[in-house]
Amino acid sequence: MRVVLLGPPGAGKGTQAQALSALWGIPQIASGDLLRAVVREDSELGREAASYMDRGQLVPDEFVLKLIAERFRKKDAHCGFILDGFPRNVSQAEALAAGLERAGLKLDKVVAVTLPDEEVVKRISGRRTCKNCAAMYHVVFEPSAKPGVCDKCGGELYQREDDAEETVRERIKVYDAMTLPLLDYYERLGLLAQVDGMGRPDEVEKRILSAVNGAGAQSAQS
Ligand code: AMP
Repeated sequence: MRVVLLGPPGAGKGTQAQALSALWGIPQIASGDLLRAVVREDSELGREAASYMDRGQLVPDEFVLKLIAERFRKKDAHCGFILDGFPRNVSQAEALAAGLERAGLKLDKVVAVTLPDEEVVKRISGRRTCKNCAAMYHVVFEPSAKPGVCDKCGGELYQREDDAEETVRERIKVYDAMTLPLLDYYERLGLLAQVDGMGRPDEVEKRILSAVNGAGAQSAQS
């Protein structure tokens, strides 16, 4: 199963990708997580990537495509994947299609999770991330047991620079300008399903599973 999850920041792509990954036994590949791992290395490249991310802008395609290509080479991605946050524009989608075609593969489905802008802002500005393991919480909707401390690893929780309200509004603008055109792109290819992102995560998951034609009922390693 090869699935792309699209949606504005805060639509719950990460949460849904994690759930589907556990259900289907295939990895979640999140370009934002790959980029944040490079930023943590504190290299010249990492600092350059951070300068885009902190402003809510897209990191240049060349940089992102290289990280994704490296990730695809890992063995666990050979049986399928859930892409979360990639592609983010039409040229990344074209590069993805070309790479898959070279490998004799294709996408099975693209699911766009939709959410009104004000809900995006409400969700993201309460989001907290673990400095150590990147687990995510929400101060209202999904608080950690002990404030500021990760339930999973005891790491410190913080607000990502790009989760501040002003940057979130910029990210929504970037999403509308760069990523929304992908909905038409995938619609024309007959791959797109749109799913309402409002409601509890388990409700959204059910909608996604039915959009992917009940494929979650079986193992998706094909
Ligand atoms: P995310 O964790 O998916 O919300 O991504 C956080 C930030 O990483 C984005 O605001 C971008 O700056 C950068 N980013 C993530 N994925 C991509 C991508 N596919 N192309 C360009 N920049 C990206």
